[in-house]
Amino acid sequence: MATRKKQPAARRAGLIFGDLWEFDPAPETADPKLKARYDLFIGGKFVRPRSGRTFDSINPANERKLAEIALAGAADVNAAYAAGAKAFGPWSALSGRERGKYLFRIARLLQDRAREFAVAETMDGGKPIKESRDFDVPMAAAHFFYHAGWADKLEYVAPGRSVAPLGVVGQVIPWNFPLLMLAWKLAPALAMGNCVVLKPAETTSITALKLAEILQDAGLPDGVVNFVTGAGETGALVMGHPSAAKVAFTGSTEVGKAIMRQLAGTDRRMTMELGGKAANIVFDDAPIDQAVEGIVNGIFFNQGHVCCAGSRLLVHEPVADQVIAKLKARIRVLRVGDPLDKNTDLGAINSAAQLATIRRLVAAGVSEGAVKYQPPCILPEKGFYFPPTLFTGVTQSHRIAREEIFGPVLSILTFRTVDEAVEKANNTPYGLSAGVWTDKGSRILRMSTELKAGVVWANTFNRFDPSSPFGGYKESGFGREGGRQGLLDYAKLT
Ligand code: NDP
Repeated sequence: MATRKKQPAARRAGLIFGDLWEFDPAPETADPKLKARYDLFIGGKFVRPRSGRTFDSINPANERKLAEIALAGAADVNAAYAAGAKAFGPWSALSGRERGKYLFRIARLLQDRAREFAVAETMDGGKPIKESRDFDVPMAAAHFFYHAGWADKLEYVAPGRSVAPLGVVGQVIPWNFPLLMLAWKLAPALAMGNCVVLKPAETTSITALKLAEILQDAGLPDGVVNFVTGAGETGALVMGHPSAAKVAFTGSTEVGKAIMRQLAGTDRRMTMELGGKAANIVFDDAPIDQAVEGIVNGIFFNQGHVCCAGSRLLVHEPVADQVIAKLKARIRVLRVGDPLDKNTDLGAINSAAQLATIRRLVAAGVSEGAVKYQPPCILPEKGFYFPPTLFTGVTQSHRIAREEIFGPVLSILTFRTVDEAVEKANNTPYGLSAGVWTDKGSRILRMSTELKAGVVWANTFNRFDPSSPFGGYKESGFGREGGRQGLLDYAKLT
C-alpha cells in the first residue's frame, strides 16, 4: 500500500473534483470520559476482580492502550450469578410498568450521553464515528425504548398464555457491535423480569462498563445486571454456570458449537446468534445505482465486521459488467482511515488477530484463482487497516465464497436464472440474511420464500428495527432477538 502523501498545495488550491478532491480533517472531539481502569460490575457496584487479573484494551486505530480491564475468574462469575439470584425475586415481582420505567430511564440517559458513548465505541472498536454516532448508539437506545414499551404489555406477547421470567440468564456478546449487542441482549431480558450476567468481548468491553454507570444513575436495583469482563475462558464460565436459567450467545459458529457441546445433556435454554455468509442478489431489472449503494453498504458497513454482511454478491449475467464497473468506481472514493474523522467510511479492523484472518482468507482467494481488485488506497501507518476489496471470477468452491471473512472483502459470482440464484444463495452452511434487488414484487416474494435466511431485505440492505425479529437458520443459529419473538425467548409460558 502507498503511504500517505500530500497533494502539492497548488494542485489542491482550486475546487477540482476527481482524483484531487481532498476533505479537510473533521475529527470528532467529544470527550469519551474513559477511566484508566475498569473493574467488574457486580451487585450494582464496581468491584476488583477476585482473580487479581487484568488485561489491556487498546485502540485498534493507533494501537495505544485505552484502559486496563478486570479479568473475571470462576469466583467472580460465581459472585455475579449470586448477585443476580439475590436480585431476581424482587425484580421479577415488580409490575411490568415499574420495570418499564427503569428501561425508559436507561434509554434516556444513553441518549443524553450519546456523543460520549459514540466516541468511546469508536475508540475501543475501530468503527467510523459516523456509524457509532448515527447507528450503534441510537439503535441501542431504541432497543431500550422499545422494550420499555413492552414491559407493561407482556400479556400480549403470547395471547391466551401467561408469561413468566426464567431467572438469571447468562449472555456473551462479540466485538462488532459492542453496545448494540448488549442492548439486544439486556433490554428483552429485563423487560420480561429476568436478571443478567453478561460478558462483553475482550477487545470491546468499555461501553458495557460505561453503561454500568448509566444503570447506577438509573437506580436499577443492585444485581439485576452484572458485567464480567474477560476472554473466552470467562465466556465459558458464564455459559456453563449451573445457576444460569438460560444462555444467550452471539458470536462465531465455532464457539457456538463449543458452547452447545458444553451444555449438551442439560435442560438449559439457549439462543445462538452465529455467523453468516449472506448473498446479495442483483437482477438485471434492478435499479443499478441504488443496488451499488446497497452492495457497498452491505459489505463495507463496519469494515464488513457484520454477521449479516452481504459478503457474496450474486449478479445477473446481463448486468454483471456494468455492476462491477460501477462498484469499482464507487469503492475508489471510499475513505479509509482515522475512525474518529467524520468523513471516514472504513475505520480500523478490530484487532491484529482479525486483520491476520482477513489477510489469510484474501491470500487464499488469490491462490485459488479468483481475481482481486483493491483501489489505490492510502492506509495509516499505525493501527490495523485493510482496504476495500473485490474478488471476481469466484466459484462456489472457493474458500472466499464459503467462509465468513468478517472484513471488507466482497466475493462476486454470477447467475443466469432465478433458480440458479436461489440455489447458489442457499449453497452455504449459514442462513442469516440475504438481499434481493429487482423491480418485480412477485420475484421478491418468490425469493424471500425460497431463500433460507432469517432476514431477506428487498431493494435495501442492513436495515434493522427493534420491532423486527432477527436470527438465523442452519449454522447461523436459532432463536430470535427483537420483536415479540425476541421476548418469547426470555419467557416461560404457562
Ligand atoms: P467469537 O465467537 O470468537 O466470540 C464471541 C464471544 O464469545 C466473545 O465475547 C468471546 O470472548 C466469547 N468466547 C470465546 N470463546 C468462548 C467459549 N469457549 N465459551 C464462551 N464464550 C466464548 O466471535 P467474535 O467475537 O470473533 O465475533 C464475530 C462472530 O460473531 C462472527 O462469526 C459473527 O458472524 C458473529 N456475530 C453474529 C451475530 C448474529 O446476530 N448472528 C451478530 C454479531 C456477530 P473474547 O472476545 O474474549 O474472545
